[in-house]
Amino acid sequence: MQEFDLIREYFTWSSDQSSVVLGVGDDGAICSVEPGYGLVTSIDTLIAGVHFPESTGATDIAYKALAVNLSDMAAMGALPKYFTLALTLPEMDPSWLQNFSQSLKQLSEQFGVSLIGGDTTRGSLSITISIIGWIEHSEALRRSGAKIGDGIYVSNTIGDAAFSLWQLQNNDIPDSDCFAKLNRPMPQVELGRSLRGVASACIDISDGLVQDLSHILKASQVGARVEAEQIPLTKVLTDHVTKQSDWSLVLNGGDDYELCFTVPEKNQEMLGDISKRCDVKITQIGVICESGVLEIVGAKNIGKSYQHF
Ligand code: ADP
Ligand code: MG
Repeated sequence: MQEFDLIREYFTWSSDQSSVVLGVGDDGAICSVEPGYGLVTSIDTLIAGVHFPESTGATDIAYKALAVNLSDMAAMGALPKYFTLALTLPEMDPSWLQNFSQSLKQLSEQFGVSLIGGDTTRGSLSITISIIGWIEHSEALRRSGAKIGDGIYVSNTIGDAAFSLWQLQNNDIPDSDCFAKLNRPMPQVELGRSLRGVASACIDISDGLVQDLSHILKASQVGARVEAEQIPLTKVLTDHVTKQSDWSLVLNGGDDYELCFTVPEKNQEMLGDISKRCDVKITQIGVICESGVLEIVGAKNIGKSYQHF
């Protein structure tokens, strides 16, 4: 099969979005934008052995490659619209491609995003997706808006994905819920949309709570006090923290793709409704303060954040 047959067979789907004027097949794609919106764009690469274990199946790889990009849209409060896919493959494996493309299509339909182009090359397995979303003018959730006194919140539970990886590395049988979060994180797009005009700053947790919250603090030029005991954990994580006296997975474990955001006091009463409507647990874990540093109260053995270099 030639490169162009491969693209036609696996990556050419019709889009039901009227704003896609020209999709896959030409030198470039054309999209129109409705008045009142600006474009938000983000890109993420997944490399085998770095971002997912080599043993991961095509279905989970495709899911994760798109999910992490959708998560960036969520963190901006944006409406995901289109994406492009740069795929580097070691070989032409029809069953791998079939599973990959089916899974990608399924998640893209679930979130209403259209594949509008890409690039296909040969080499070590690597997947880059660039996503484009719409955002109402001046409503984007930036990292820089946190103010002293704002509450700090996270969605759902923290550390599950890292715990699952830890279990795999220690030849433990992975907890099924945590394993699902590692391979199939749920992008919090609806929550991000609901936080427009409510949250003062927002980020998605990809590199760990400490590192990602620190990005908000730096961009907003503030500090924070976080109570470790308030961080929402699943039962298996609570057990792990207690047994091993180790907070590192909770504080530095990446890959959760939950949202961490700050909310001024006057908006905090809205969070109950948002939580119900989005079917997402929302928990306050601390407060923004003047100190300029991130203070974590009540945690021992914090460990180090993940660094690529
Ligand atoms: P060009 O030579 O102009 O760069 P290509 O031959 O790389 O174009 O791609 C042909 C068409 O197929 C383009 O519209 C491109 O966006 C699309 N395409 C290539 N690879 C992929 C892919 N993996 N997924 C989706 N679209 C792709
Ligand atoms: Mg061209």
